[in-house]
Amino acid sequence: MHKRITRTAVLAIFSLVMLIVSCSHETSLKALIVTGQNNHNWQRSSVALKQILEKSEIFTVDISLSPAAGEDMSGFIVDFTPYDLIVLDFTGDDWPEETRDNFVTYVQNGGGVVVYHAASSAFPDWPEYNEIIGLGGWGGRDEGAGPYVYIEDGEVVRDNSPGRGGSHGRVHEFLVQAFQPSHPVLNGLPEKWMHAEDELYDQLRGPAKNMEILAYAHADEKFGGTGRNEPVLMTITYGKGRIFHTVLGHAGSGDSFFPAMESAGFVVTTQRGAEWAATGNVTQEVPAAFPTETQSLRWDFFEE
Ligand code: ZN
Repeated sequence: MHKRITRTAVLAIFSLVMLIVSCSHETSLKALIVTGQNNHNWQRSSVALKQILEKSEIFTVDISLSPAAGEDMSGFIVDFTPYDLIVLDFTGDDWPEETRDNFVTYVQNGGGVVVYHAASSAFPDWPEYNEIIGLGGWGGRDEGAGPYVYIEDGEVVRDNSPGRGGSHGRVHEFLVQAFQPSHPVLNGLPEKWMHAEDELYDQLRGPAKNMEILAYAHADEKFGGTGRNEPVLMTITYGKGRIFHTVLGHAGSGDSFFPAMESAGFVVTTQRGAEWAATGNVTQEVPAAFPTETQSLRWDFFEE
């Protein structure tokens, strides 16, 4: 009996060690997607984001669901501290003060954040949130939110002219162009690639402190855009925290759901931006298949 217990114990310890070894090699980073309210199809976008991060084989991913819009938010207390990365797929009712404070403290202390698409329209009246996302839109944002920021003749322009913050033209394919090609998120990728049909946000404005534009796209007036080179991928630092902000990846419904989130450029920059935000480095290999300057590419790996 004694011998049998010992053998079982040894086997159990061996299994545990193997589990720890395999975990630490492959999925050592923990991410939390915060969602539950959005003017988009968050039910599918949050699952797609989870699959994108898990596909990198370096993240394990949890999802935190808020109450539905209009319901009591007082019990929505989120502890961000166990996570290397928070992915914001939320725009809607104010978080309770404790959750807001937890989030700001998490970022100040070095937490990583991915700001995804419509999260830039959340919380127009929360100053720290707006510093963390760098640029935002909608929700009544105007010149009080900060300058418009865009690229003109290879230079970053901060434009304080009055006007609304946040708009986009019609969904279309557009060329994404690296502005900081040697940044770890973009290093090794082509400097220009065609993005599958998506909304191209323009006229975003915000504090834009400690913000770098990694890539931009020309918002062609023929699709209802500004005619300016609008930032589409950005990094922000806030305290010790690193933030990767992607305006890409509109999630609609039905047939219009997938093109943007399946676009290889979105998938790869989200995986790499997430790793950079979590660790300050990117260890992922550059994929063999990537869109070219003229041909977009979709990766059809999402599970229903
Ligand atoms: Zn959208």
